[in-house]
Order: sequence, then structure tokens, then C-alpha cells
Amino acid sequence: MYRLDTPLAAVKGIGPQLQATFSEHGLLFVRDLLLQLPNRYNDLSKQVLIAEALPGESLTIRGTVVNTSNYFRGGRSIQRATISDATGKLDLLWFNAHHITQSLIKGQEYFFSGSVGSRGGMVHPSFEKISDNTIHTNRLVPIYTSTLGIQQGRVRRLCKHILEFLDKETAPHESLFAGQKLPSLRTALSELHFPSDEELVITARERLAAEELVTLIRQAKKSKALWAKLHSAPAIKESKPIIPPSIPFTLTASQQTTIGEILVDIGRTQPMNRLLTGDVGSGKTVVAGIAARQVINQGLSACLVAPTKVLAEQHAKTLKKLFPDVPVTLVTSAQRKKVILDKPQFFVGTHALFSLLAEINPVLLIYDEQHRFGVKQRLAESKLISHRLTMTATPIPRSLSLSLFAHLDHSQITELPLDRIPTKTWILPAAKRAKLYDWIETQVAENPQYLAILVCPFIDQSKEPGLAQIAAANVRFKEIKKRFGPKYKVGILHGRQSPAEQQEILAKLFAQEINVLVSTPIVEVGIDLPQASALVIESAEQYGLASLHQLRGRVGRAGQQGYCYLFTSSAGQANTKRLQQLLTTTDGHKLAEFDLANRGAGNLFSTAQHGFSFLRFASWTNLTLLSQARVIEEQLPQTWRSSLFLDQKPLLATAN
Ligand code: ADP
Ligand code: MG
Repeated sequence: MYRLDTPLAAVKGIGPQLQATFSEHGLLFVRDLLLQLPNRYNDLSKQVLIAEALPGESLTIRGTVVNTSNYFRGGRSIQRATISDATGKLDLLWFNAHHITQSLIKGQEYFFSGSVGSRGGMVHPSFEKISDNTIHTNRLVPIYTSTLGIQQGRVRRLCKHILEFLDKETAPHESLFAGQKLPSLRTALSELHFPSDEELVITARERLAAEELVTLIRQAKKSKALWAKLHSAPAIKESKPIIPPSIPFTLTASQQTTIGEILVDIGRTQPMNRLLTGDVGSGKTVVAGIAARQVINQGLSACLVAPTKVLAEQHAKTLKKLFPDVPVTLVTSAQRKKVILDKPQFFVGTHALFSLLAEINPVLLIYDEQHRFGVKQRLAESKLISHRLTMTATPIPRSLSLSLFAHLDHSQITELPLDRIPTKTWILPAAKRAKLYDWIETQVAENPQYLAILVCPFIDQSKEPGLAQIAAANVRFKEIKKRFGPKYKVGILHGRQSPAEQQEILAKLFAQEINVLVSTPIVEVGIDLPQASALVIESAEQYGLASLHQLRGRVGRAGQQGYCYLFTSSAGQANTKRLQQLLTTTDGHKLAEFDLANRGAGNLFSTAQHGFSFLRFASWTNLTLLSQARVIEEQLPQTWRSSLFLDQKPLLATAN
């Protein structure tokens, strides 16, 4: 009998070598292996007679072995078998698979699964003794990730074996999940690995997702309770003026409100734990700076941690300009050793700051786009009792801030600075591309600093059917180079370039030395390129509206008119209607709500660049499931612990 917390080493069939492979991939317990869900299923559930088998179709044939042979040809060992049923005979062929002729016994009946070639016969079919509990044939067969480097058949057999002997005792809380029409955990795991029906895979996945959400809600609550017990952060008394005259613009009403909320929080000994959301360009940095200045004026230090060196440098520069009376110190891994902690300062840096936290002992710890940091880095600050502010441009809908982020207070900047002209947005048919390029050329010819950015979802062209139409940066870049270079300066930026290559192109961008940049959505994360004026989004159907809106926030940031052009490779009406929301709406939050309503049309947090990837099974956009999870969580006893999700951390900055 296995339990979810049984070590894999104790599973029959897992020897030291296989165990080592699993643990290399972080799989230690039964639950870890069972959570490695199949990537997809090969549908071999269609059983046909030999005479009915159509070439190319995935199918299963129930046949009796007539004869087998084993021979060499051209240096290859070849295995052949002939099978028959009431309607005819079929030849089977394998290469370099000696064991096959030994395990196929003449006169015996088996299931053979695969597809029949155009000249008849099956190459490399899988086969299995007849039973109603097959693993590799005559069913939806799970296909696992190949990154484990373990043969599919072996993973399948192991999972099947574990599931067969998995503790049947359902936990007392299963009734709560059942109350929400969700299957039991055991059923869900069985269906996910060996589905009896494709429909059931969906509800099975929902069962895991519900458990994941329940766990996160529980953790948010626990974390809030823990945090509430801390009373030891210094209370920061306001210094006047709160808004220094060095700031060259008038703060928006929203910025002022959020500053007020933050100052109330840090004026208490109960440490602040606040989330600050606001569209790109809404001016979060200055809000953070004002809070930090209050702290430093009290003779204490503050830290701002940015996800990349580029952003840290940019923040340091901006903050020095906005707050000339505040000592700002940049900390990146190169400077870390040279930092002198002689006076209260505003330390602005990358993750290199984490190793200095104990020494700096900041009273205010600010994260910019913090969801991009790993758990390891969060541990460094876990012992620190400080006021925390987490900033993100990702809109967090109310339903989420009430559940998964229940441990955080939430401030929202809801408007852009007044001088910002809304970006003009157009959906263009493919035929207009040449005209668009001509227009960009006239702009660049007029202004050598002009920057147009072309964003593609993929780096390389995919060969997979269904993905081949999605724009790829490498392909577009070739085209752009031909059209604009060498007269105008072109560049490419994506996540598979080396950090050195990225730095080089970023340096050129900051020096305003690029006219047309082809990029993946990497540009979405926080970089301020004021000269960016036109944005071309390729394969726009691939993004949620909130993501598109964030991308669009990259242009027109210096007060110039920004333009956003959408190309889409999907002609569907629903898609066009969805994208049209962008033409009329400039409110990121509203668009995020549209995304939620359009579940499936585009996922608010799905794309990798958001880094919200710790949700393994749940989708943020499934509000129904989220509310089911809330109902379940409220009824669960205090002592409940998930047997699946053990080491989840509450999302975003918190006490542990
Ligand atoms: P984000 O919220 O995306 O981090 P930033 O803090 O980088 O936005 O601000 C974007 C730009 O807007 C910066 O150049 C900043 O100085 C400027 N800015 C911020 N607040 C205002 C305001 N109230 N009026 C005009 N410009 C502002
Ligand atoms: Mg920012």
C-alpha cells in the first residue's frame, strides 16, 4: 500500500538508479511522481478489425500471433510478426527490438496499438496482453514529458502500479470537494494518468486545481495571522513636506491616495504588508520613493529590489533625480562588496541585495515585480521584520486579492499621469503590413531616435501543426533587416540570447541607437524606453487583453503620441471582437476583467514572462473554481493539510 508521502525508493520497481534519476528532477515521494501529469494522451481507444483498419489512423487491433521472425539487414536488426483476426492478416515490424519476438507468443491474442502505414502493416506498434485494464494499448494512453529521460512505457507502468496500490482511504475532507461536484483525489489522479474518458480529465484536473487553490487560500490566511502577531517594526513619523519640491510633476489623485495608505501603514509598529498595483507607466516608482524618503528622514534605511540589473540601474538613476536629498546607493553583484553602510540610505539593487539584508536591516523593503523572484531569495528576507511593499503592474482582480492574496493589503493606482496621451490602437489586416513599414520608415527618417518595437510570441518558427502560423522573432527580424537595414538601425531581443548579448542590445536601446526592435514579450517587464513610439504586436490572438495592454504601455511614455498595431493570425470573429476591446478601453483593470469573463480566450497570467508559474494546476481565470475553493476552505478544519501541496509559499512578500 502506498501513500502520497511514501518515498519513491519504497515503490516496487524503483531501484537505486531510477531513484537517483527521479531525485535529480526533484521527485522524491509518490505524490511528486503522480503530479508529473502526462503532457497529452495518445488516443488508441478505437478498436477495429484488420480489414477495417484505415491507414494513418491511431487504432488498436485485437489479433492472434501467427508467426514471428528476427533477422539482420543493412546492419539493423529487424523483428517481424504476422497477426490475424477473423477478417484478415496484418504484418508488424520493429527495429532493434530483440525482446519482441521473445515476448510475443505464437497462438496468443494481444492488443496491438499504433497506426497502419499506407502500404499496410504497422511499424513499431505497442502491444499488450488482452485485459480490460491495459496500460499501453486500447485506451487513451498517457504521454509523459521526455525530460526525465525515462522510457514512456516504464513511467506508465510505474504510475499504474502506484495508482493500483494507492491507499484507498479517502480523507474525511473529500466530502467537501464532493459537495462541489469534484471527484476524490484518488479518482482524479487515476483519471489524469489513465483516463477512462476525455471529459473526466477536465474535472480531474479541476480537482487538483481546487486543492491547490484551497492550499494557497489557507496559507494566505495563516500568513496574515502570523504577520498580525508581529509588532516590532519602527513606526515612521511623517516628515514634511511629504512630497518634496524636487518632483517635477503633480502626482495623480491615485498616487496621492496610495501614498496616504502606505504612510498610515508605516506609521504603525505592526509591519506593513501591502501590494501596490498600477498599470505600466502609472508611476509606482515615485510612490515607493516617497515612502522610502520618509524612512530615511527618520535615520533608517530602505531597500528596493528590482528583478534585473537594467531595471535596478534605471530605478537608481530615476530616484536620484526625483529625490536629490535622499542618498541612493545602487547595489548589483559587481558593487556588493564595496557597499558602505555608514548612514541611512536608500539601497536600490538586484537580488545581490538579499545577501546584505541582515546588515542593512532596512525598515522598508520594496519589491518591484516581485513575482519574478524565487523562493530561495524570499527566504533571505523571511527573518527580517520590516515594512513590506510589493509593486506589480499585473492587475490583481478583487476576487484574487480577497482569496489568494488575502494576507496582503492592496493599494491600486487606477489612472495614468494626466500628460499621458492614450496610445492609439489599430487592428491591421495582413495586407497593410507593407504600408505600415513605409509609415515607420517616414517616422524614422524624420527622427533618428525613433523607436518602433515589433513583438512576436515565439523566438523560432514552430513546426507543430496549429502553431506554425504564430509569428517568430527570428523570422521577422530577417524581414526587418532586409526592409530597414543597414540604412536604419535594427535589433533583436529575446530570452534565449546570452546575458551579454541582451546587455549589449539594451545598452543600444537606452542610448537610443535602435530604430526597429524585434522582440519577444520580454519588453513587457518594466523597461522604460521613452523614445518607443510605435508598437507592432504580431499574432495578437496569443495574448490576453491585459497582457496586450501592458505591452502597449511601453510606447508613448515621453508624452508623445504612441501607436499600437495589432496583427492577428486568427480570423475568428470572437477573436476580433475580443481584440476590439483594446480600441475603446484604456483601463488595464477593466481589460483584466474582460479576460476573466473570456476565460480561455487569453489567460491573464499564463505567459511565462509574468512568472506566476507557481500555480501548477489552477488557472487564475477560473473564477468558478476559485469560489468553490473558497467555500471548501472555509469548511475545512483548522488541522487540515493538503497531502499534495506541502511546501507552497504564500504568494508575494509575506511573513512565512
Ligand atoms: P511604473 O508604474 O510602470 O513603474 P514609473 O514609475 O516607471 O511607472 O513611471 C513612468 C514614468 O512616469 C516615469 O518617467 C515617471 O517619472 C513618470 N511619472 C510618474 N508619475 C507621474 C505624474 N504624476 N505625472 C507625470 N509623470 C509621472
Ligand atoms: Mg515600474
